[in-house]
Amino acid sequence: MAEEKKITCVICPNSCVVTVKYEGENIIEVTGHNCKRGLKYASAEAIHPVRSLSTTVRCKNGRVVAVKTNVPVPKENVYDVMWEINHFTAPDDISFGDVVIPHVYGLDADVVVIGG
Ligand code: SF4
Repeated sequence: MAEEKKITCVICPNSCVVTVKYEGENIIEVTGHNCKRGLKYASAEAIHPVRSLSTTVRCKNGRVVAVKTNVPVPKENVYDVMWEINHFTAPDDISFGDVVIPHVYGLDADVVVIGG
C-alpha cells in the first residue's frame, strides 16, 4: 500500500515542502520540489533518512575532542551511535583525522577526530 510523506527540503533557504508518495522502496510520485536537488533529497529522506553526527569524545586524560561520523548514518541508528560514542574513552594521543571508532555500531561509518 502506498504511503505519503511531506518533507521540508533543507538543501537551500527556500524550504520547499515536498510530497513523496512511495510504496516500500519504490518512489511513485514526488511533487512540490523546485529542483533536482530537492527531488533527490526528499526521495532519500522518505525511504532512507540519514543524519550526519558531530559530537565530542573524552580522552583518558580528560581532554575533550570534537568528532564526527565520516558519512551520514541511518536516522533509526542515531541514538545507538550516540550511545556508543558517549560511552567511549579515547586514547590520549589522538589527533585530527584519526579514526577513533571504526564501524561505529557495526555500520559503514567511522568516527573521526575533527578538532580539539
Ligand atoms: S527543492 Fe530545490 S529550491 Fe526547494 S528547498 Fe530544496 S533545494 Fe531549494
